[in-house]
Amino acid sequence: MKTVALPSGERVPAYGQGTWNMGDERAARAEELATLRLGLDLGATLIDTAEMYGDGRSEELVGEAIAGRRDEAFLVTKVYPHNASRAGIPAACERSLKRLKTDRIDLYLLHWRGSVAFAETVEAFVALQKAGKIRHFGVSNLDHADMQEWCKLPGGGGVAANQLLYNLERRGIEWDLLPWLRERRVPVMAYSPIEQARLLRNSKLEGFAKKYGMKASQAALAWLLSQDGVIVIPKTGRRERLKENLAALDLALNSNQLEELDRLFPPPAGPQPLEML
Ligand code: NAP
Repeated sequence: MKTVALPSGERVPAYGQGTWNMGDERAARAEELATLRLGLDLGATLIDTAEMYGDGRSEELVGEAIAGRRDEAFLVTKVYPHNASRAGIPAACERSLKRLKTDRIDLYLLHWRGSVAFAETVEAFVALQKAGKIRHFGVSNLDHADMQEWCKLPGGGGVAANQLLYNLERRGIEWDLLPWLRERRVPVMAYSPIEQARLLRNSKLEGFAKKYGMKASQAALAWLLSQDGVIVIPKTGRRERLKENLAALDLALNSNQLEELDRLFPPPAGPQPLEML
C-alpha cells in the first residue's frame, strides 16, 4: 500500500475508505461490513467517518467492522462545527468513541468552519490529544485564509491534515491552498474523489479510460494517487467495487497521460472560492 506521511512522520495509507451514507440501510449492512473488513485485509486501513453521517450510524457501522481489529485501523472522524467549542468537543468525542467502540480516535477533524472561534476548537483538540483520546487533529473544508488563521494560533501548527473536495473536475485548490499545504507537509484528504460517481459518466474521462484499458473510477483515483501528499477516501459499500478501486494503486500514470488529463480537465487559471459538498 502506498503511504503518505503526516507532519509527525507517521505514515498512513494513501487509499482510505469513505463511509458517508453507510449504515443507513438495513439491507445493505452485511455487504457494507464485509467491504470495510475486506478493505482492512487489503491494506485500506484508514477509515473516514463523521458524527454527522447518518446521525452516528456510520460510526456505529465502523465500530462493528473493526471489532477485534482495532489496532489495524487508522480511524478518522469529524466533529460538527456547532459542537466544536471548549465544552462541546470533549462531549462529542466521547459520543464518537462510544459509537466506534474504541478508546481513541486516530485523527479528529473539524468538519467545516462554523461560528465557534478557532482558538477554542484548537485548545479543545490539544487537550483531547494530551488526554490520549485523539492521536492527531486536523480540519476539513478550510480555505487558504482559514488555514493561515488556524496555523497562527497556539497549537494550531499541529494540524495533521485538511480534508477537501478534490477530483479531476474540482481542481480549484491547486491554485494556492494545495501548494501552501504541501510546503508545510500537511496532507490533503481528497473527498468525493469520483464526484459521488458523477465523474464516471463524464465522456472525457470515459474516453481516456477506454483508451488506456482502465475503468473511469480507476483513472480518477490514479490521477489523485499520482500526487505527493494526497490521500483518497472513495466510498463504496460493495466488495467488487472496492477491489476495482484499489487496483488504481497499481496504475502509475505516465507524464503523457497526466498531460492528457490536464488538457481534458484543466488546472485553475486563477484563485477560486473553495468548493464543498
Ligand atoms: P465518492 O467516494 O466520490 O463516491 C461515492 C459513490 O460512488 C457511491 O455512490 C458509490 O456507490 C459509488 N462508487 C464507488 N466506487 C464505484 C465504482 N468503482 N463504480 C461505480 N460506482 C462507484 O463520494 P463521497 O462518498 O461523497 O466521498 C468519499 C468520502 O469522503 C465520503 O464517504 C466521506 O467519508 C468523505 N466526505 C467528506 C466530506 C467533508 O465535508 N469532509 C464531504 C463529502 C465526503 P456504492 O457504495 O454503491 O459502490
